[in-house]
Amino acid sequence: MVKICCIGAGYVGGPTMAVIALKCPSIEVAVVDISVPRITAWNSDQLPIYEPGLDDVVKQCRGKNLFFSTDVEKHVAEADIVFVSVNTPTKTRGLGAGKAADLTYWESAARMIADVSKSDKIVVEKSTVPGTAIADLFNPDRVLIGGRETPEGQKAIQALKSVYAQWVPEDQILTTNLWSAELSKLAANAFLAQRISSVNAMSALCEATGANVKQVSFAVGTDSRIGPKFLNASVGFGGSCFQKDILNLVYICECNGLPEVAEYWKQVIKINDYQKNRFVNRVVASMFNTVSSKKVAILGFAFKKDTGDTRETPAIDVCKGLLGDKARLSIYDPQVTEDQIQRDLTMNKFDWDHPLHLQPMSPTTVKQVSVVWDAYEATKDAHAVCILTEWDEFKTLDYQRIYDNMRKPAFIFDGRNIIDVDKLREIGFIVYSIGKPLDPWLKDMPAVA
Ligand code: NAD
Repeated sequence: MVKICCIGAGYVGGPTMAVIALKCPSIEVAVVDISVPRITAWNSDQLPIYEPGLDDVVKQCRGKNLFFSTDVEKHVAEADIVFVSVNTPTKTRGLGAGKAADLTYWESAARMIADVSKSDKIVVEKSTVPGTAIADLFNPDRVLIGGRETPEGQKAIQALKSVYAQWVPEDQILTTNLWSAELSKLAANAFLAQRISSVNAMSALCEATGANVKQVSFAVGTDSRIGPKFLNASVGFGGSCFQKDILNLVYICECNGLPEVAEYWKQVIKINDYQKNRFVNRVVASMFNTVSSKKVAILGFAFKKDTGDTRETPAIDVCKGLLGDKARLSIYDPQVTEDQIQRDLTMNKFDWDHPLHLQPMSPTTVKQVSVVWDAYEATKDAHAVCILTEWDEFKTLDYQRIYDNMRKPAFIFDGRNIIDVDKLREIGFIVYSIGKPLDPWLKDMPAVA
């Protein structure tokens, strides 16, 4: 029986291995981690991460051919194929600080594999997980395998290919050399992020001119060469990999003496930061240039809907911006806990990407922040509402009830363009929706810095 071991039971390792176990009943899969609470959670009814469909897959295979363990060395020693999906935070000090990947965790995993191995093994750097993880792992657009161009490298590629070929059509399994695979991964994320920054850049111009970004992106997206996906204007992109992968790309360009190429990709991040700042400035400027002591309801904290993942979520920067102007925040997200939100708001940039038990403890909680489990509670007596995640339930809230219970004038700032602007204006709200024609109220407010 082929044995696979995956080091790192996180967002990448957990779902990927669960799907491999389900699709390959003849393979035994062990997912190992140094974090005891994480492994305990994987072995319980409360899995440590939320992904639609994940519970089901884990329940079907756990204890049969899928195991979660902290006995890292034993499972690595027994495995034929070792996947490594450990943290690769952005370096915060020294060479490449702010851009390059910190490979401390990777190196320690690699050294451990070398120490405990008594047989040949294929070591796989597994550093991607698709958007809606389970659905996309079942039905991927493509699987990309890079390897050395040596006989051993080619053999390893074929062995890995035969695992995925158990459920993915062979013509969708692409094989390349190592650098092509590495750059394809970085480029795919950079291109996606670039589309978002492109439409977000247009959203600022739409607001300045009176165009509607939804109409513009729809028109642009009907060109079959461009296509309609990833053209929604928003408060900005988030997630664990877009910014990190672009920073890596920038670093690699600089190391290869290509500063112009590096600058080009940096701009994607700059526009993302600009968009988050712009949103905060709109909120503050609209509310008489101060949010000091005002209650602002934050609806949604995760970086996208249907996940509890808050890594690099634009909500962090928006909340920090509003707190900087002394607002009181009442936050509701259907999947994110108070503990997570407090950690996110007190952590230093890039610290989130270290294993949980090695992260600095949050010294204090932010007192001006309360986290509640209901959108109506969050918005009660609030001066303003900010929608920061596109959860479906925010589309069908009783906005009349929300309006009735808010301070007046009641402001709503939609960072995801999910609400019906006209309907809300009829109720009486002053509405800002990214890239849409401005409310007359906002037009009279000071220009956005
Ligand atoms: P994660 O933080 O959810 O999980 C990583 C796990 O590795 C943690 O549970 C940690 O305890 C464990 N770990 C760290 N060092 C270890 C060691 N030496 N031995 C055993 N376990 C160890 O991270 P993730 O989201 O699963 O990401 C894993 C990797 O994949 C990261 O490098 C990340 O940047 C990358 N990633 C890439 C993409 C992409 O699309 N490019 C998307 C997501 C993640």
